[in-house]
Amino acid sequence: MAATVVRNARPVSPRLSKYCGALVGAVVGDCLGAYFECKRHVKVDELLNHFAALDSVRKEQQFTDDTAMARSVARSLVEKKGLDVKDMASRFVSEFYKEPDRGYGGSIAAVFSKLEKSGCSDPFLPAKEQFDGQGSFGNGGAMRISPTALYGYNLSEEELNKVSEDITRITHTHPDALRGAQLQCSAVRLALRETDTDHLNTNNFIQKLRTTMKQLENPQNLDNHPQPYCDKLDTIEEFLKRDSVDCSEVVECLGNDISALGSVPTAIYCFLRSLKPVDYIPKENPFERTILYAISLGGDTDTIATMAGAMAGAYYELDRVPQHWQDICEGVPDAVSYAKQLHTLCSDLMDSHK
Ligand SMILES: [Mg+2]
Repeated sequence: MAATVVRNARPVSPRLSKYCGALVGAVVGDCLGAYFECKRHVKVDELLNHFAALDSVRKEQQFTDDTAMARSVARSLVEKKGLDVKDMASRFVSEFYKEPDRGYGGSIAAVFSKLEKSGCSDPFLPAKEQFDGQGSFGNGGAMRISPTALYGYNLSEEELNKVSEDITRITHTHPDALRGAQLQCSAVRLALRETDTDHLNTNNFIQKLRTTMKQLENPQNLDNHPQPYCDKLDTIEEFLKRDSVDCSEVVECLGNDISALGSVPTAIYCFLRSLKPVDYIPKENPFERTILYAISLGGDTDTIATMAGAMAGAYYELDRVPQHWQDICEGVPDAVSYAKQLHTLCSDLMDSHK
């Protein structure tokens, strides 16, 4: 697919440390969140004790399906110099059959089986047939989308949304899953584009995401048209105005489950909330705070932490990701390598359009 590069007033040379931060942030969120996955409630004491003990741990913390699939997204974008849906689908399939025990959702195996049998001849068809033709509304598209934000740093918004949608449609076709992946990708790209890592205007950040989602959910601006992601962004904005919001209220209103709608906005809130201290998480490093806060909400902890970790890593840059976490989490050197390759690809795309 030909990439449309828009030259505008925005900085066109993304910082490599932000690229590395995004992909490494996503990996450590996945690896460290996996320990608590599926716990409905995470006790603060248990969380803090676990992370304190982790300081002396040397054992590798393994990544799950989130990272396994994100690696395929990154590899395919790099090797094909853009989106080649069939190539990406076949990478998902080979990765799944190579290591099926990475914690993939139960229904995804049927999609991979059909893709394998058909040789990915129509890479969108098996997912479209899921759930009586409704498609999955899970967060499996959003959990792996972050490398797309690096590739699409300079794409037009329309182009970026199309790439995110097509990558998601290989496994998830329900509108909630598609919009969720687009929201996650947009949020990571916004975080990459922020140059002041000490001050983030959260209202502007949310407003930009709202504009994107409004265009996707209700392009004709119809009255009473459902726009569930815009509604969640409103909730995030309201929560951020309050001094404190109880975890149970965050979970009740934003969610912590495996649906895209019940997890992507939550990840955005985790990132934005953790810009400021959180009273029960005694961490001065805001990247660490983001990961611990995301996990403290329980539920789909690896995916919410990987999505929040991608935004936080993109914003704070690689050196804020604790070195020890980088040392013990599986797949960090590869994430750095993919980030570098995507950075080069992005620069090459810019040069080819000059
Ligand atoms: Mg997972």
